[in-house]
Amino acid sequence: MPTLIKVAKFGGTSMADAEAIRRSAEIVARDSDKRLIVVSATSGTTNLLTTLCSTLPGKEKRAIVDQIEEKHRTICSQLKEPKTTQPGIDKIISELRTLSEQDIVGPKQKDAILACGERMSSLLFTAFLNEIEPGARWFDAREVIRTDDAYGSAEPDIEAIESLAGEKLRSLIVSHKVISQGFIGSDSDGITTTLGRGGSDYSASLFAEALNADVLEIWTDVTAIYTTDPRIEPEARPITELSFDEAAELSVFGAKVLHPATIKPAIRKSIKVYVGSSFHPDQPGTWIVKNPKSKPVIRAISLRRNQTLLTVHSLDMLHRHGFLAKLFDVLSKYKISVDLVTTSEVSVSLTLDTDVQSSAKNSLSEQVLAELESFCDVEIEENLALVALVGNNLHATAGLSGPVFGSLEDINIRLICHGASSHNLCFLVDSSHADQTVRKIHKTFISTRNSTFNS
Ligand code: ADP
Ligand code: ASP
Ligand code: MG
Repeated sequence: MPTLIKVAKFGGTSMADAEAIRRSAEIVARDSDKRLIVVSATSGTTNLLTTLCSTLPGKEKRAIVDQIEEKHRTICSQLKEPKTTQPGIDKIISELRTLSEQDIVGPKQKDAILACGERMSSLLFTAFLNEIEPGARWFDAREVIRTDDAYGSAEPDIEAIESLAGEKLRSLIVSHKVISQGFIGSDSDGITTTLGRGGSDYSASLFAEALNADVLEIWTDVTAIYTTDPRIEPEARPITELSFDEAAELSVFGAKVLHPATIKPAIRKSIKVYVGSSFHPDQPGTWIVKNPKSKPVIRAISLRRNQTLLTVHSLDMLHRHGFLAKLFDVLSKYKISVDLVTTSEVSVSLTLDTDVQSSAKNSLSEQVLAELESFCDVEIEENLALVALVGNNLHATAGLSGPVFGSLEDINIRLICHGASSHNLCFLVDSSHADQTVRKIHKTFISTRNSTFNS
């Protein structure tokens, strides 16, 4: 009998091939407390499905579906009894063929296409787990993860999810280990939606919240959350423990290891979060908790690429009221989300994320620009990157900006935001300097174990 309820999520690389899936399934089989398993699509599949949604000649679309089919068939063929699972995969592939043959792929069809990845990978995971430990059940996440109809980046309906989980899932997980999909949900009409790229972490956290889980585990390809992305800085160190606030800030400011919304449900229900590697499950990972033992000024550094800086100038701002309201009204009307803001007497600069809002430039270049230009001058700078130092009490720590500027003497800092949050200090640099900036800041504050800021 389980003593705790753990929800475990396995990301794309942990689902890459039969070997990776089997290794992940073994992690699940070893622990009777892991009751709900949330999986991503096999690695690379969501990218292929995204390409399938673009305008392509029929022949190219068929080639992509063939490639996806081949990949899943190969994994399936490595099961002891592929015949039990293959028909389920074939059915989804045939749906995918029909969906991809449509000339116009609107947002609804796009989500139906994208959902095929997690639908297939979860069938495979269930079969591999059943080989090691019989009794695992497959469960359609769309029965519980209720969202609005903002296809492509749907917002979950927390209350509905809680009540659907109570109705359909809570008792099932007591008697069976249940495998479900990350990333996908459905709206109130039962139409498939997705939560946005990287959204499986968020799904797992929503499930954990609805099931009152004790622990949420995120199994990925790095052994822990590091002091910065180890792909950028090989000297990055694994973090043993950090707070919900620090983890939330790190992910919002670009640490891909967690989807930015993951921490919110965990905070609401005080669920401890563990991040570890499915490739090295015995190596210590990171615990994200409410009150960590240490609270260094600088815990880690994150990087968000593809930033656009929008600067508006108007003499009307001088000693007048209402200008900012007018500006934000326009941005809100076009659903443009703003991250950093700095103002002076006659100008305001805002950063927009061109990665999330792949249409930021397009939407800015047409109606939005026209509307903004009717009351101010507009300037757009692209190819910027946002670097954030994340930690505690940064706003009240003397002597922080000296070493920041000192270590970046030869790099132009385009904009800086300090003091608005106690958990971060962030600034914009040119994209071409992004990695170098992270490495320099990491060296100054973390590699050298600077005792004032990071002990
Ligand atoms: P998954 O497919 O398991 O969801 P992701 O690729 O989304 O995995 O996230 C893991 C990746 O996040 C790592 O390979 C790493 O490059 C990146 N990453 C960025 N920042 C950090 C960080 N601070 N610590 C660890 N990994 C990070
Ligand atoms: N498969 C989805 C993606 O690649 C969701 C996820 O893996 O988190 O974005
Ligand atoms: Mg991810």
